[in-house]
Amino acid sequence: MHRVWNFSAGPATLPTEVLLQVQAELLDWQGAGCGVMEMSHRGKEFTRIIAAAEADLRELIGIPADYKVLFLQGGATQQFAQVPMNLLGRGAARKSADYIVTGAWSKKAWKEAQRIAPVRLAASVEARGEAADGFTRLPRPDELDLDAQAAYLHVCTNETIHGVECHDDAALAAQLPAGVPLVADMSSHILSRPLDVRRYGLIYAGAQKNIGPSGVTLVIVREDLLGRAPADIPSVMDYQVMADNGSMLNTPPTFAIYVAGLVFQWLKRQGGLAGIQAVNRQKAELVYAAIDASQGFYRNPVAADCRSCMNIPFTLARPELDGVFLAAAEAAGLVGLKGHKSVGGMRASLYNAMPLDGVRALVDFMNDFAAKHA
Ligand SMILES: *Cc1c(COP(=O)(O)O)cnc(C)c1O
Repeated sequence: MHRVWNFSAGPATLPTEVLLQVQAELLDWQGAGCGVMEMSHRGKEFTRIIAAAEADLRELIGIPADYKVLFLQGGATQQFAQVPMNLLGRGAARKSADYIVTGAWSKKAWKEAQRIAPVRLAASVEARGEAADGFTRLPRPDELDLDAQAAYLHVCTNETIHGVECHDDAALAAQLPAGVPLVADMSSHILSRPLDVRRYGLIYAGAQKNIGPSGVTLVIVREDLLGRAPADIPSVMDYQVMADNGSMLNTPPTFAIYVAGLVFQWLKRQGGLAGIQAVNRQKAELVYAAIDASQGFYRNPVAADCRSCMNIPFTLARPELDGVFLAAAEAAGLVGLKGHKSVGGMRASLYNAMPLDGVRALVDFMNDFAAKHA
């Protein structure tokens, strides 16, 4: 068998240990006589699997008891609509919500929310005409225009395409007007570092970046934000209904939840979120150091204090070499490095499951390539 170093932004690489366990249990989960894909979601085996997944996740992050954990479907993209449907629907006490736009994903969230309810742009670096390079920094506190009456403030704490990460959510939370909950799309960096859930009213993340396979979407929501949806929204879209039914109003994505549960156990064995953060920092530093030491051969445009540890976009000074770089990388067993079409160039995604050895292989390749073509 042949496994590449997979730098795909998502769906993305999974821990080998987890995949081997899935393989071993595929036909017969722990003596059940069938695999997880084939068993009833209401049966005693799956009931154990989803309960263990939630318990392990709660322990890993330290999720307070007054927050619900929901395993939903529809991806983060569904949350772009489901958040305003629930928190800002007809009859809601507050009439508008604020959005900070820091890259392609928060911009999509802001656009989608406009289909549901009136929302405000609380800040955008792009709107300030600095986006010739794409989004390259977070807005400064003095650039925020926050509505004290907003139903919530929406942010994306790691912009997967632009490689812009919020490293100081305490400062962000400190900016919040009293009574305005923070809602965050954490799809591409949840579980990559310790997280203080108390700073947020609601956190959501599609699984296929840093949690597990695609098909399940994690929502962590403070209980007082439940029950705010208008009565006429579809029941599968209502957080309260999903919470009341333990994420099993209907059939949940059972296999994806099972694999996510194994990833949570794997993370506990890596020393939890502090343990994995230490490795993630080391990995990111290696790649940024290679870029910065390349004398302009490689370039990452993001401000130093906003550089993402998970997704590192970079361009070549000579874009005519892009195809040569990607083909040579692939031949060296390094795949998934093509940048998003909106920013071009390359992108290395260094999620939890990417080992240090994979990053060393990438950095060696980048250094060799630069030496050969400089
Ligand atoms: C990938 C991604 C999304 C979209 O996720 P889907 O599961 O495809 O809907 C949204 N936000 C961020 C930050 C992402 O990285």
